[in-house]
Amino acid sequence: DNALYIVATPIGNLGDITQRALNILQQADLIAAEDTRHSGRLLQHFNISTRMISYHDHSDERQVDSIIAKLQAGTSIALISDAGTPLISDPGYGLVKKAREAGVKVVPVPGVSAVITAMSAAGLPSDRFSFEGFPPHKSGARKQLFASLARDARTLVFYESPHRIVDCLKDLAAEFGEDRPLVMARELTKTFETFLSGGVAQVLEQVLADSNQQKGEIVLMVSGYRKPETGDELSPEAEATMKVLLEELP
Ligand code: SAM
Repeated sequence: DNALYIVATPIGNLGDITQRALNILQQADLIAAEDTRHSGRLLQHFNISTRMISYHDHSDERQVDSIIAKLQAGTSIALISDAGTPLISDPGYGLVKKAREAGVKVVPVPGVSAVITAMSAAGLPSDRFSFEGFPPHKSGARKQLFASLARDARTLVFYESPHRIVDCLKDLAAEFGEDRPLVMARELTKTFETFLSGGVAQVLEQVLADSNQQKGEIVLMVSGYRKPETGDELSPEAEATMKVLLEELP
């Protein structure tokens, strides 16, 4: 059966490719890739010689229409992105939408995505989370977004570039408070995989102290808003009395 296959590829460790992904990439008539040179190296590693064409979300209408026409004519096409799952902060949305509208069969071939990989090992509440993609590049817009999310109870997941990580953590501290629990996952599945965790200010401190933490690929996860437990409306005097009483408790 011909179809448009949406194929996930590794985000670092090549061992994370699935058997099914390899079969589909081998058997497809064409592979549509975001960057054919980059994906060429991956395919070469796995000895896959399927012909490639280029697709990105800025591809002009004619090119998208020509891919749809090929699918309608019975060609099987596998879509891949540079890393991880297509459409997740990566190209593919326009193509999948058009393919579905045209009645073309679209088949997911799942695998790695950085958001799920990071969440699976962060140790933050994972029952509900919101994937926020890349925050805006400019501080003003970024702070505005963070302010709108500051009282969200769900864990928030962001992708961030190493060039903006320090400024982004500063803005997170400003809008979420310095003590909001945060986990920064870096270089997932690769040699220098690291998880930093603590309050936003603590993580920022670690990132500033070690320039290696300002390199590579990064997922930020911010714990959701929690109502202060005992009510922070206690006066400083009452707070002090409470502390003394608590120390006296058995
Ligand atoms: N489609 C990909 C996915 O499914 O995760 C995401 C592509 S997006 C253009 C690239 C961003 O994903 C990086 O800037 C980083 O935030 C995150 N990312 C990708 N690979 C990663 C890795 N190995 N470790 C940490 N973050 C990663």
